[in-house]
Amino acid sequence: MARQPQAQPSPSPVEPVTTAAGPPAFEAGGILTINLDAIHSNYRTVAGRVLPGECAAVVKADAYGCGIDQVTATLNRAGCRTFFVAHLAEARRVRAISPESTIYVLNGFSSALGPGFAETSARPVINSSVELAEWDHFVTSTGWTGGAALHVDTGMNRLGLTVEEAAAVAMRIETENHGIALLMSHLACADRPNHPLNDTQIRQFRELRSLFRGIPSSLANSSGVFLDSSTYCNLVRPGIALYGGNPIPSRPNPMRPVVELKSRILQVRIVPKGATVGYGGTWTAKRPSRIATIAIGYADGIPRAAAATEGV
Ligand SMILES: *Cc1c(COP(=O)(O)O)cnc(C)c1O
Repeated sequence: MARQPQAQPSPSPVEPVTTAAGPPAFEAGGILTINLDAIHSNYRTVAGRVLPGECAAVVKADAYGCGIDQVTATLNRAGCRTFFVAHLAEARRVRAISPESTIYVLNGFSSALGPGFAETSARPVINSSVELAEWDHFVTSTGWTGGAALHVDTGMNRLGLTVEEAAAVAMRIETENHGIALLMSHLACADRPNHPLNDTQIRQFRELRSLFRGIPSSLANSSGVFLDSSTYCNLVRPGIALYGGNPIPSRPNPMRPVVELKSRILQVRIVPKGATVGYGGTWTAKRPSRIATIAIGYADGIPRAAAATEGV
């Protein structure tokens, strides 16, 4: 499949330009277009909404598959100055494109990563007491002042210190220099506005912030931004909304679509009622049907599990 990032953001639709990443358009079975102009505009939408708070951008997982280099350059032009990635390797890519930005690495810290964080001037997101101990050791032994985020779990139950552990850290923080530059937590159900966990997490985080007075804080992912302004704090961390995903699926999507996939129709045939189609004959025509076969499949990222299953 040809992947065709548009070179420059533009107010009008731009004819896709074939890049070296794939075959020319007339040969391609499918064409995936990433609209960088829409990413630019989605960033501006979120950033405007959370003012005077700051809007970061999550560009992990190759910017959700949209291409970390092109997306970072676009967001940089849109005014984004703080990026979140999963891995140090991604932080290096962002650093090369955005020399002045603040970069947080979500996957945490271990001693072995210390030199890499220092070279990249990236900040780890500290996810446990063990990581915090290793970070403290790194900071005191090297004098590194690059900063880190402290991630506290308020209900996601994936990563982060417990609230109790964080409270103990808060007691020490006034006397010791941890270099903690950001207090953060992650919402589990913000895409469902009526879920009771939202209020619980917002309340817990408010209490935590009062323990870490003077340290900037961050709670909202994409859904949080569209859920409630009490999640904005100092910094929001949208990912999926920048790429066109609907932050609150039960409402109309406020974001511009970013990703468009087109595929060539290879053949169209008419099958009678009762005929089966495809591997295993798992789909049966309920009426005379026109069947198009397109030139993309699981090699192009269409999930195999999306195939019709027995009995459907
Ligand atoms: C991935 C991630 C985000 C972005 O979440 P979206 O739902 O894509 O907006 C924010 N914060 C953390 C900690 C994440 O891991």
